[in-house]
Amino acid sequence: MPTPSEPRPLSPSLAETIASALRKRNVDPHVTAEAVQRELDVAAVSPTANALVGHLHMYAPGGGDLIRRAYALASVAHRGQFRQSGEEYIDHPVIVARLLLELSLEPEPIAAALLHDVVEDTGVPLDTIRAEFGEAICYLVDGVTKLSGLENLSKEQLQASNYYKMIVAAADDPRVLLIKIADRLHNMQTLGATSPQKQRRIARETLDVYAPLAHRLGMWRFKSQLEDLAFRILQPAEYEQIEQEIKWGSNSSHDTIEAITLQLAQSLHQQGITATINRRPRSLYAIWRKMERRQITLDQIANQVCLHVVVSDPSEERAALFCYLVLGIVHRAWTQVPGEFDDYISRPKESSYQSLHTTVIIPGGFTCELQIRTEKMHKIAEYGVATCWQVGLGGAKSPWNYEQKLSWMRDLTEWRKEVTDHRHLVEGLRPELAEQLNVVTPRGDVVTLPIGSTPIDFAYRIHSEIGNNLHRAVVNGKVVQPDTRLQEGDIVEIVTSDEASGPGTHWLNAVRTVSAKQHIKRYLRRKERQETIEAGRQELLTELERLDLSDFYHQVPSLLHLDAMDDVLVRVGQGEISARETALSLLQTQVSSRADLRLPYRLVIHILSNDRVGLMRDITATIAGAGVNIVRVQQPPAEPGGEAMVVFTVDVADLEAFSDLLDQLSHQPDVLDARRIASDDLGGL
Ligand code: MN
Repeated sequence: MPTPSEPRPLSPSLAETIASALRKRNVDPHVTAEAVQRELDVAAVSPTANALVGHLHMYAPGGGDLIRRAYALASVAHRGQFRQSGEEYIDHPVIVARLLLELSLEPEPIAAALLHDVVEDTGVPLDTIRAEFGEAICYLVDGVTKLSGLENLSKEQLQASNYYKMIVAAADDPRVLLIKIADRLHNMQTLGATSPQKQRRIARETLDVYAPLAHRLGMWRFKSQLEDLAFRILQPAEYEQIEQEIKWGSNSSHDTIEAITLQLAQSLHQQGITATINRRPRSLYAIWRKMERRQITLDQIANQVCLHVVVSDPSEERAALFCYLVLGIVHRAWTQVPGEFDDYISRPKESSYQSLHTTVIIPGGFTCELQIRTEKMHKIAEYGVATCWQVGLGGAKSPWNYEQKLSWMRDLTEWRKEVTDHRHLVEGLRPELAEQLNVVTPRGDVVTLPIGSTPIDFAYRIHSEIGNNLHRAVVNGKVVQPDTRLQEGDIVEIVTSDEASGPGTHWLNAVRTVSAKQHIKRYLRRKERQETIEAGRQELLTELERLDLSDFYHQVPSLLHLDAMDDVLVRVGQGEISARETALSLLQTQVSSRADLRLPYRLVIHILSNDRVGLMRDITATIAGAGVNIVRVQQPPAEPGGEAMVVFTVDVADLEAFSDLLDQLSHQPDVLDARRIASDDLGGL
């Protein structure tokens, strides 16, 4: 491993690239590559670089060299740029990187965080990032980089395009969102320098898009910070009021909290349990939302304290069991508030959140809300998806299965391929980021869906085949219409059947999730194609039978130079290929291939009709009128009053005229059927 004083050098061509960018931006009109190289060398071992690497090495042994190179490039490239708050621009990527260091992330996303604004703001191209840092970091930087060069788009379209790019990139590598959310968090923290109007716009967007994204990613820590920052800008009076209440509460309850924390700590110690007890940071925005729903009053806020009890033990299994022991200790020491107990350890939330929740009454008229969990559960609760890339907890060890949990993002990007306007993506994004509700399967698994979802959404969330074969929806033991809106806590069961009628177009109006919409559309398209194929097949078979060519059905694709029968049938069904002309072309190949037949063609017409006086005369007149020469007529004796059969052998010059003649004959009064037969040898008839 290279020591901090000997970082691996950046490539020599890089200095020239940066120098040219600095000259172009007029930061330093005469700067040379050699001077930039010296700057890079100094930056790589600067106190800031040392501090970043020091932080990284607190939890990860390697990666220091990568961080030094990324910092050096970013700090030199951003030279001469300042934030609106007046600080040097490089401070921003450094703080974003620090936010990720606090999550104990691997070096790669940290390096990408340092580089995240280089391409957008400094004139150093993405290819340079790729050459210096490889494909993965390049992908992250590009995913975070805003789209540019789209000046002809409206502000709304541009924003939609940015979301689009972000979601598409994040669907493949969610680390893009970790950087993006940390970026937004720092931008929110430094928003004071911009105009009030812009502050409100960005705060609104934070509340609409970034905080819900952080929530879907399970990143509680970031989510609540984003919400509180936006809340302070959008509703300053309410923010102030709640903040004051919490402060006052904390002063007056200080002694009480100290006392019960001590008492609890002693009890835990006596039982041999290692745990930390902390006051839980409270989300002002969450409190305000609760007040809005009238579930809590300002008095209650002041009188409630919240504690985290985080149990540590080398065995996760034993730590989880200790949580229940802690609960028992708490319930024996203080009076439990009825209805306030939840066991999310035995039944985790869909976000993989695990914890025991309880509220007890403590001296001084306070209630104390406790969340009891293991260290690992605590990390998942605070950092969610980020745990997948945390050193020590990353990879398979994290229960946060992002492949599965973020499948909605892939559905969203799939869906987007079918529409041209990026604004549709934002429409699809909205329900996914809106408030969610939790329902459960009969087995007790929690499924989270946007509010307004129906059993159809639920079915597709479980599996696309369950949606397509949905036969009956059962909610809380009762059969309901599949488009019934689900409520929080509903137990939902889907009965499937092969005989289910399948999705219809009206289902599209009954779903909220993008993935359900996506699957229904796919099904309808497939079904429509299937129906078109079936109609095409019927039409072609009818025409072939009329000319006695059914045996040659399978020759049709090669006759039309198409690969597959379905290709033929779709085109016939859509009216692109005429079944009649196809049948005639096939007849042409059949009659021409027979050496004994030369023009005119000798063909045989088989007619079935109701027997009546003058029928023969009428038919003969029609055939003669079509300019067709009758060679032979055969008529087996008919049953009296029954059906008559007559077979004409004819010579015709034109196959199309022959086909028209068959039409005319079949429309004669009393004629039941007129068709070609291959031979006039009636044999046993
Ligand atoms: Mn940024």
